[in-house]
Amino acid sequence: MMNRFEHSPCGYMQLSLDGEILNLNETMAKWLKMDKQQLLHQSIEKVLSKVSMMMFYSYFYPKISIQGHVEEMLLTLKTAEGTSDSYVLNAKKFEEEAPIIVCVFMRINRRVDYEKELRNVQYALQDALKQNQIAVEALEKINQQIEEQKAKLEQMNLELSQISHVDALTGAYNRRYLNERMEEIMQEKVLLSVIMVDIDHFKKVNDTYGHLTGDVVLTKLSKCLSNTLGDKGIVTRYGGEEFALLLPLIDTNEALEIAQFLNREVGNQEFEVVDHITISLGVSTRTEEDTITTLFKRADDALYYAKNNGRNQAVHANQL
Ligand code: GH3
Ligand code: MG
Ligand code: MG
Repeated sequence: MMNRFEHSPCGYMQLSLDGEILNLNETMAKWLKMDKQQLLHQSIEKVLSKVSMMMFYSYFYPKISIQGHVEEMLLTLKTAEGTSDSYVLNAKKFEEEAPIIVCVFMRINRRVDYEKELRNVQYALQDALKQNQIAVEALEKINQQIEEQKAKLEQMNLELSQISHVDALTGAYNRRYLNERMEEIMQEKVLLSVIMVDIDHFKKVNDTYGHLTGDVVLTKLSKCLSNTLGDKGIVTRYGGEEFALLLPLIDTNEALEIAQFLNREVGNQEFEVVDHITISLGVSTRTEEDTITTLFKRADDALYYAKNNGRNQAVHANQL
């Protein structure tokens, strides 16, 4: 029995109230890597780590004095070789002639190692989470940059499309746009009228007031046409002092009325320097057989007729 007690799988110590080691078993001495004789009548402080010493004074002694027992106290004890081990300690005070404290120690190095490992895993996990978060943030930033670049590109495309489709002098759509739109509209097989507009005696404007004034007249005429036409049609500069107006969904009669109205509006418009100008207009309305060429040819013929018939008027090709 005695032998089993000496070598039991837990450490045993008896302490006096002031921490003197009164007795211990072989297991305890072996764990501390000392002979029992080296420890007997020594202070427990001899094997306490600094932190454990603080715990002893602040927790162990007060609790054992007042309550008579201490349970599951974690502490570190030093060995004679300078290494240290972790223990869990249960202690109980026995009131004899001189009170003694019976201490039972269980080594928990493995548990501490597991805890350390667990903590490390936890840290690694937190680290991975943080890295993940950083990566997500970086990705969001890249996404944002892509969105910004996309918006810029769209804006640039828009500007480019405007530059390539708009006449620089007058702000009207240019011939390229006219061609593209006509291709689209002709495929759609919808009703369509076109009006060719040509300034009367424009050469005289240039000759009398100069080319720059001529430019101003062209710009103002372009604005006047698009303001008057509103959303009924599209104003394009066909070339020189000629404009082609596209009027989707507008039939023969309405197209002629619109052309006549434009003629009056431009005639009433005041232009700087030149005062007033007149325009001639040739109108055509799409038939089923029409190609782009034939449709414009008829509008051109009507314009030619208007010119030869005294100018300052609108003529529909159907009237010829
Ligand atoms: P009509 O009534 O028969 O149309 O006579 P017109 O003088 O208007 O016609 P013509 O074809 O003889 O002359 C057109 C003039 O338009 C000649 C050209 O210098 C002028 N012109 C063409 N493009 C521009 C331009 O961008 N700016 C200016 N200022 N003049 C232009
Ligand atoms: Mg002309
Ligand atoms: Mg002209």
